[in-house]
Amino acid sequence: MKLSIIGSGYVGLVTGACFAEVGHQVICVDNDPKKIQMLLAGDIPIYEPGLEELVTRNVASKRLLFTSSIEEGVHHGEIIFIAVPTPPQLDGSVDLSYIEVVAREIATVLKEYRVIVDKSTVPVKTGEKVAETIRRYNKMNTHFDIVSNPEFLREGCAVADLMKPDRIVIGSNSDRALALMKKVYEPFMAPILVTDINSAELIKHAANSFLALKISYINAVASICEASGADVEKVADGIGSDKRIGRNFLNAGLGYGGSCFPKDIAAFIAISRQLGVPFTLLEEVQRINASSLERFLNKIREALWVLREKKIAVWGLTFKPDTDDIRCSVAMQLVAQLLKEGAQVTVYDPKGMDKARELGTISGVSFASSPLEAACQAEALIIATEWSEFANIDLLALKKTMHTPLLFDGRNLLHPDVVRGAGFVYVSVGRS
Ligand code: NAD
Repeated sequence: MKLSIIGSGYVGLVTGACFAEVGHQVICVDNDPKKIQMLLAGDIPIYEPGLEELVTRNVASKRLLFTSSIEEGVHHGEIIFIAVPTPPQLDGSVDLSYIEVVAREIATVLKEYRVIVDKSTVPVKTGEKVAETIRRYNKMNTHFDIVSNPEFLREGCAVADLMKPDRIVIGSNSDRALALMKKVYEPFMAPILVTDINSAELIKHAANSFLALKISYINAVASICEASGADVEKVADGIGSDKRIGRNFLNAGLGYGGSCFPKDIAAFIAISRQLGVPFTLLEEVQRINASSLERFLNKIREALWVLREKKIAVWGLTFKPDTDDIRCSVAMQLVAQLLKEGAQVTVYDPKGMDKARELGTISGVSFASSPLEAACQAEALIIATEWSEFANIDLLALKKTMHTPLLFDGRNLLHPDVVRGAGFVYVSVGRS
């Protein structure tokens, strides 16, 4: 099938590449000319395991094209996927201006029937607004259908998630559009859940809010473990081995971050308020999340007494491992706070340092080229992102290079007995 994707970021590019991989003819559109130039030159603007091979292979076979022309995109695809940003506004509600711009742009060049699919995460009832906008700005009265097809990929394993999804949600009020959408996804052989448009839109916010709730739940349990001498890892195993609950998203630590969870939870709170049914439970989820970082910082302050001029190493900047994405990363917030309190911070991250340098919010930090270089002469080391590289570190070499063997593990990545056995003072989350 001929498919177009508008917005070639983490979602759009990976989706486009996976659609091409299963045989569709895909064109990815982006209004950032630098991004399109990079892609046309064979460079991949983001790090995502397996993505480069996939893009290279499908560009070579001419199933994956790139353009900055929305007109070309609308002309090419019988189905047009929108994957542009939906960032938060100051009050937590969603800034839908990117979606609105794309809807207007599509409308002005829409000449034949198209299915317009929203893949971005949007508030319930956005589909109705997109349809209204297209009708208003399309002078030719062209027939089209709107579909909601939320994306559930996880950065760091986005290719695998897209190629083998748990389920595909298609929200549609049109049999014609639904039949086309089923054809798009046929090669993926995944369960398809068909709903109305509003329900599909709501599924995405409800799913992310639930996952965030699990994280805050275990972080609240971690505080109780710390107060009582229990071990949160054992408690999480005990809870999580119950199939009704599951072990995923029960990892105590610094809390959730990233480009999705914080904004999607804030959005769901705002949506529920606007609908007159405030979802106050989610406000508590947010509060626990913010306090998880603060509680951890307090442990560091307690151990180091005064942070000013203390040499601190931080491992990890990305919001999770196996990505270069630092958007709303808790690790970045932690580094910014240490700098604010006057610490001399040296960081190392396997993939996130270029983006951190570009962003500039932690200027004043030193970037190291290896974990051990970052830890050299450090009075404390903090693990802020659970990269496997850090789990396999040579603890004796680490101890030798540090000024003081004091290790704060914000992700419970290491085993307390092993680290203490190597001569460290070890502080983690929810366990003594
Ligand atoms: P992103 O910022 O990585 O990519 C968005 C792209 O859209 C950018 O390349 C930008 O240049 C482009 N763009 C903006 N306006 C445009 C326009 N008018 N025309 C063409 N291109 C335009 O964002 P992302 O992480 O891919 O997220 C996109 C959406 O998907 C968001 O709603 C997000 O919440 C949702 N989502 C993200 C993830 C994730 O893990 N990143 C997962 C599921 C859903």
